[in-house]
Amino acid sequence: MRDFGGIVERSPVRVARPGSAGEVADAVREAAAQGLDVVPRGFGHSTYGQSLTAGVSLDLRGLTGVEVGARQATAAAGTSWRDVLAATLPHGLTPPVLTDYLDVTVGGTISAGGVGGTSHVHGTQADNVLALDVVVDGDPVTCSPAVRPDVFDAVRGGLGRHGVITGATLRLVPAPERVLCCTIPCRDAGDVLRVQREVRADDVSARVKPSEDGWVFEAKAVLYGDGAEPPPGTAEAEELPYAGFCDRMRPDVEELITLGEWARPHPWGMVFLPASRAAAVIEPTLATMTADGLGLSGVILIKALRIGHVPMLDAPDDPVLFSVLRTASPGCASVPEMLAGNRALLDRARAECGTPYAVGSIPV
Ligand SMILES: Cc1cc2nc3c(=O)[nH]c(=O)nc-3n(C[C@H](O)[C@H](O)[C@H](O)COP(=O)(O)OP(=O)(O)OC[C@H]3O[C@@H](n4cnc5c(N)ncnc54)[C@H](O)[C@@H]3O)c2cc1C
Repeated sequence: MRDFGGIVERSPVRVARPGSAGEVADAVREAAAQGLDVVPRGFGHSTYGQSLTAGVSLDLRGLTGVEVGARQATAAAGTSWRDVLAATLPHGLTPPVLTDYLDVTVGGTISAGGVGGTSHVHGTQADNVLALDVVVDGDPVTCSPAVRPDVFDAVRGGLGRHGVITGATLRLVPAPERVLCCTIPCRDAGDVLRVQREVRADDVSARVKPSEDGWVFEAKAVLYGDGAEPPPGTAEAEELPYAGFCDRMRPDVEELITLGEWARPHPWGMVFLPASRAAAVIEPTLATMTADGLGLSGVILIKALRIGHVPMLDAPDDPVLFSVLRTASPGCASVPEMLAGNRALLDRARAECGTPYAVGSIPV
């Protein structure tokens, strides 16, 4: 069995496919009685074996369903964020933070952290959970900031090592109908970080793209609602329906599937950096990297964010997520070369008090 990274392979003793929280508890107890490791798995979109095991693989894709209430929703852990959004939008509501890609599970990204374009305002997805249903050592536990906060803090960002999330109560906020997406060209990483700090936008992100003249930096500022004015420095602005904006990766993903790039190994290097030292890591990383080391469909992202109380994430204060999302395309750098690049990125990050984002592929 492999994951989206396609680098690590593990053969589980068996795969359990629970259809309820009770069946999750049964599977965990049965595995414990046999001395087997249990590893929960959502869509397996982490990239370095985080969802894989040689013990019992707990496939949670059968735990689905969303109920929407006033300003909150309950979702079963295997529900995709696509399905959560589809359930909340008819009520004029949305989760405050969505990952760039919607086909990941509620349990999977809460266990990872879950960073989105709005994370500079709302924090991570793990910050926007009101309560969780978890199976710990075979026993069901409901936890929240007020009830069993030890469990609540251990499972959010905990990569499934301290309990299996079976359901989540999610905070919701009003959804805009339309958004204005503004592209702001930037000189370098420092300029991207300045724009992300200064711009007043609901959603901010930035990409670094290879070109014949070197790396090109481009920030995106997305403003919600009608009558928004593009911020200073905007080169292009496009109005989109909110639902289409949230699902903006879909056409690219479909093309990558057709091209075969989606199925190639993805050695993804992702680190949290203190904002004040971020450029000191990003610039030398790019200076020693070529387009070859990124792969044909690789992507580099810079994202300033805020993290509330998610102790397991262990990110620096005032963090910036720097993501070098490599694809081992034919004719480009090999997987070991890309992993070595990720290791060098982590070393550089650690020298500046940075930490890894644990769903990436960085040999430690
Ligand atoms: C195309 C793409 C785009 C992405 N974009 C973003 C992004 O914008 N922001 C971001 O933060 N991340 C992003 N990611 C990374 C993504 O958040 C993680 O890979 C996440 O883990 C994926 O969720 P999953 O359901 O596939 O989880 P899996 O990969 O199946 O699991 C991830 C980890 O959580 C554990 N786990 C899974 N389900 C549970 C559960 N119910 N209870 C306890 N533990 C569990 C697993 O054991 C594993 O350790 C992206 C990934 C891809 C492939």
